[in-house]
Amino acid sequence: MPQLAAGLSRLGTETAFEVLARANALAAAGRDIINLGIGQPDFKTPTHIVEAGRKALADGHHGYTPAAGIPELREAVAADLHRRHGVEVSPKNVLIVPGGKVTMFFAILMLGEPGAEIMYPNPGFPIYESVINFTGAAAIPTPLYETNGFSFNADEVLARITPRTRLLILNSPANPTGGAVPKSELDKLAAGLLEHPKVVILSDEIYSQMLYDGRRHVSLLTYEALRDRVILLDGWSKTYAMTGWRMGFSVWPDQLFPHAERLAVNCHSCVNAAAQYAGLAALTGPQDSVHDMVRAFDQRRRVIVRALNQLPGFRCVEPGGAFYAFPNISETGYDTRGFQQKLLEEAGVATIAGTSFGKYGEGYLRFSYANSTENIERAIERIRRCLSA
Ligand code: PLP
Repeated sequence: MPQLAAGLSRLGTETAFEVLARANALAAAGRDIINLGIGQPDFKTPTHIVEAGRKALADGHHGYTPAAGIPELREAVAADLHRRHGVEVSPKNVLIVPGGKVTMFFAILMLGEPGAEIMYPNPGFPIYESVINFTGAAAIPTPLYETNGFSFNADEVLARITPRTRLLILNSPANPTGGAVPKSELDKLAAGLLEHPKVVILSDEIYSQMLYDGRRHVSLLTYEALRDRVILLDGWSKTYAMTGWRMGFSVWPDQLFPHAERLAVNCHSCVNAAAQYAGLAALTGPQDSVHDMVRAFDQRRRVIVRALNQLPGFRCVEPGGAFYAFPNISETGYDTRGFQQKLLEEAGVATIAGTSFGKYGEGYLRFSYANSTENIERAIERIRRCLSA
């Protein structure tokens, strides 16, 4: 048996991929499975984006690109951030990466080590806690509460900062809860962070274009006083239905950018050249498909939340963003993981247990409503039957 590095035993995973594999295996065996587990749009990448990728290959863009990305794309990202958030970002601070995950991996690697503390949302995207543990830093959860619409409480976050805190991870709109942090809470947090000038903030805004009921996204980049320590995580995966293209971008403060670029050189050299041209077409082309997709998610959101609230033992707050509903199922009497398994094996409905997103996810189940209204309604009917059996 080879002797493995200790950190590997502390690395977690993302249950969504395991559930997807099991759901696919059941489907391959002939079962009719409705997948409300995996968090990816059920729409196709818009045609003009696919065509740009195809053309790039035909035009001979098949060599290495600069590690940070092709200059036109870094400029397009800066222009996109200006258009959407009204912020000035230099293309020099933009790093093109193979998916949103890479930004969190690099940020946590850069600041995490034994003795350091890193704060992360819980329930939250599982990879935060996993990579923090991998580095040996202490993972300090920021609890998110159903009663708050799954927003954090700024005073509570600030109270948990210690002299060892190196990084604070935020995610709004959020996975797995769909929670959107109100501007008033962000303002309070940003003001309080001025007292903690050494704390770097990683703001995961990958769902920033998916907000409902007239909410407007407030990027952490808009807080000028924090600009020298905010890392922005965003990308193409969710907004343009491009999860498999592996395209993400990040904005790094001057002092951190060279380290991020160096990690990129050491890790992946550069992002797939043709995919970068597709990403350029996504940002500079028509945005109608984004708006259409968000409108469809909004309709499904209303359908699923209403239906979940009618299931016995379920209680679901209205999610403000992303494409997840996170009902409280504690009154069904089932334990969370057992219920996830029962729904998949017996009812043929894939969901993800809240505990896959951290200990504060106990008693909740994540539903991705990136699926047709018809499938959502069929899934709810199956769950209803399962609950009454
Ligand atoms: N951040 C959050 C909150 C996510 O939910 C996801 C994907 O589910 C990611 C980042 C990673 O996105 P990507 O597929 O681009 O790596």
